[in-house]
Amino acid sequence: MATKRSKRPKHIPPQRTCVGCRQVLAKRELIRLVRTEDSVQIDPSGKLPGRGAYLHDRKSCWETGLKGRLEKALNVSMTAQNKSELRQFMETLDDNADEIAQALEETSDTELS
Ligand SMILES: [Zn+2]
Repeated sequence: MATKRSKRPKHIPPQRTCVGCRQVLAKRELIRLVRTEDSVQIDPSGKLPGRGAYLHDRKSCWETGLKGRLEKALNVSMTAQNKSELRQFMETLDDNADEIAQALEETSDTELS
């Protein structure tokens, strides 16, 4: 990967790592999760205090995250209840957008309207 750049005075958006796919990108592109006393909460505002971890708004990343990486990243053990809450949120997310677009393209011959 690229070598580390020395500090630049211009404001660079903060970079964070998605704990699902390990991609590093601007913090605003990711959903923050924060560890509270005994659970993990979604933090849409990104402002809650506490240890945070980040995930893409993609199902695949959440699945990987919920399988254990999130707990590792936040050093917490999530309850089944907590996991199912996050899973519910995950269900509202799109799956890999590229794959969906591709699938749509492949079926474009058939009637889609
Ligand atoms: Zn990701």
